[in-house]
Amino acid sequence: MNSIEEFNKKQRPGDYYIKLNSELVKLNEKLNIFNTISQENISSGFLFSVKDNICVKNVETTASSKILKGYFPPFNATVVERMKNNGFSFLGKTNMDEFGFGSFGINSEHIAKNPFDERYVTGGSSSGAAAATAILKYHIAIAESTGGSISTPAAFCGVVGFTPTYGSISRYGLIDYSNSLDKIGIMARKSEDIKYVYEKIRGPDSHDTTCVDKKCTDTDKKKIILIDQLITGLDVEIEKEFLLFVKKLENLGYTIEHRSLPFIDKAIPSYYIIAMAEASTNLAKYTGFKYGLKNNDFSQQYNTFFTNARENLGPEAKRRVVLGTFVRSASVKNLYYSKALKVRSLLINELNKILADGFILSPVMPIKTPRFEDTNKLSPLEVYKTDMLTIPPNLCGFPHISFPYSYLHGMPLGAQLVTKHWNDTAIIDFVSKWELSFNYDFKYNLGVLR
Ligand code: GLN
Repeated sequence: MNSIEEFNKKQRPGDYYIKLNSELVKLNEKLNIFNTISQENISSGFLFSVKDNICVKNVETTASSKILKGYFPPFNATVVERMKNNGFSFLGKTNMDEFGFGSFGINSEHIAKNPFDERYVTGGSSSGAAAATAILKYHIAIAESTGGSISTPAAFCGVVGFTPTYGSISRYGLIDYSNSLDKIGIMARKSEDIKYVYEKIRGPDSHDTTCVDKKCTDTDKKKIILIDQLITGLDVEIEKEFLLFVKKLENLGYTIEHRSLPFIDKAIPSYYIIAMAEASTNLAKYTGFKYGLKNNDFSQQYNTFFTNARENLGPEAKRRVVLGTFVRSASVKNLYYSKALKVRSLLINELNKILADGFILSPVMPIKTPRFEDTNKLSPLEVYKTDMLTIPPNLCGFPHISFPYSYLHGMPLGAQLVTKHWNDTAIIDFVSKWELSFNYDFKYNLGVLR
């Protein structure tokens, strides 16, 4: 049985939600997992949190950016509406890298800390969503991924993170980062809970014409494919643990096959060009005039007015505005942006051929979970390169799932499984089978029902 049905069957002490809320507020002072904890009087329902770039009616929604401080959407995102209609109770908005720009959760004013060990990053950009899932037993996180923002934090916080096929969950009410890449997805402690929620929230929405109802039922894949270029250059300890995991899968009856796809190294430059180009157009509206922190001093010069408003963006957001505006400028468009789109199409074709034969498996990150001090030593380019395993499926819109498979020095390790478009439930089912053989436990269990 999934935890949602189990929870709904159990009797709860009258003060269940009150106790949970006060414990959570205390813990949040230490870990910065939530940007907002709901003040609504929750009295029933399995809890769900929402990444802070997804609109919840009358609840401050900032995408962890200063420029959106004080924005209270007058409407619910479709995904929020569907969660509520299915009996889930809204718990709060989770911390994230500003607008989704980041891999470690460190591009936020109040940085979320890893519940397993506070010296470590949670991963990003859905930092708070993953940490909330690690500390709360009866909870689902609604998160978002553009290039790995669900897989990475899920791996670093030891939870399951599911990113569906592009277009299978409505993006209405999402504060866009990169429209052709953004996917709303789900995090939970157990894959069965993800499957349950996915069925409730996926499917067409008149507000989002890219969202359709498709499904394929090619669920019986026993073949696991390792792409050589994705498993070379890994941290040596990660490589060792991952290959041990692959051996275990072999013992469970899966066939392992190696393939080579040298071209896959073009995924990162292609992704960052497309993502930044789209991000720079999406951020253009935050001028302090109509959108973004209001600036009412109209006596200022044109440039001063807009520059002052844009000062509310963090350093990574500014970098992306500059680079994104450059790559889509008319003089260089064919050198970068158009080429990046071609690379994306070619990569979809190549990966489709491989995915016709089986699932692609890799670690989630090529490095061990970094401590905060380690991330300071990385240049922006080095940070972008750490996305080498999460970007290919995200760039191509393939469904993928990140799940814990081992521990290293007390921290959880995550693997990522990818399948072809619309075969989403097959990878969730794969993880359910793996969970039965992997006896995994959480350090934190908040709430009176432990
Ligand atoms: N690290 C990637 C980026 O910064 C992915 C972020 C995301 O998926 N939102 O673009």
